[in-house]
Amino acid sequence: MEVNQLNLKTEENNKLFFILFIITLLMMAFVFMIACIFIFSSRRIYKNILLIIFGSLIVFLCFIILGILILFFSKSNKKTHFLFLKWMNLSFKIFYPFIYIVSQSIRIDKDKVRRLYTQINNYLVSKQKIPVVKGNNILLLTPHCIQWAKCPYKVTNDVMNCKLCGKCQVKDLVELSRKYDTGLSIVTGGTLARQNVVQKKPKAIVAIACERDLFSGIQDVKSIPVLGIINERPEGPCYNTRINISKVEEAILYFLKGGKK
Ligand code: SF4
Repeated sequence: MEVNQLNLKTEENNKLFFILFIITLLMMAFVFMIACIFIFSSRRIYKNILLIIFGSLIVFLCFIILGILILFFSKSNKKTHFLFLKWMNLSFKIFYPFIYIVSQSIRIDKDKVRRLYTQINNYLVSKQKIPVVKGNNILLLTPHCIQWAKCPYKVTNDVMNCKLCGKCQVKDLVELSRKYDTGLSIVTGGTLARQNVVQKKPKAIVAIACERDLFSGIQDVKSIPVLGIINERPEGPCYNTRINISKVEEAILYFLKGGKK
């Protein structure tokens, strides 16, 4: 996968992430100010308890904010010590829901914010030290809307039912999985995707889906590196979707080469 495709640090993402981060911080500061007024006007017996809780919350929040700043200013394409990575990951996972709520309150397109989630996830994976993963330990996971809607063959049961006619990109994915000996699952929903991961126990996942499904899917898989690739929907959602196949190949190669591009 090209550096920029993995990377959080594209102009557009940088800007959106930073703006949302600042707005979220301002809103938090406002809530804390209200809390401060409440604490100092409360009766003495509660005041000390509230101050301790409040103080601990502020310290925790500073820890999270610092983690986000490290994530934001960390150098692209440089591997990070796993403790820093854990810190950035934790900070991002804790802070992201606030960013999401704030983005919705100011009516930013949900998909834009969810896309940011996938891209930051990919960025964090790119900073992880990953061992070389064999092809048969890599799972390509894609929703069945990538299949031509009129295709009579059921590829969700067995991808090898595909006759490789080329009317949809299932053909390309089957060929890629054969070329690199990876697993390939075409699933009808999130539950089946999760079941596939549990059954096949991959060591790395290349997940293809829309912003919403990647957002929830990546959160479900905690211990396996997942590179998310957002699909294209030229005919609308969930219908004859498409994927940039070279991005899928780059993601496979990324894992095959142990995280080297
Ligand atoms: S490439 Fe495979 S899945 Fe797609 S339409 Fe042809 S036979 Fe069906």
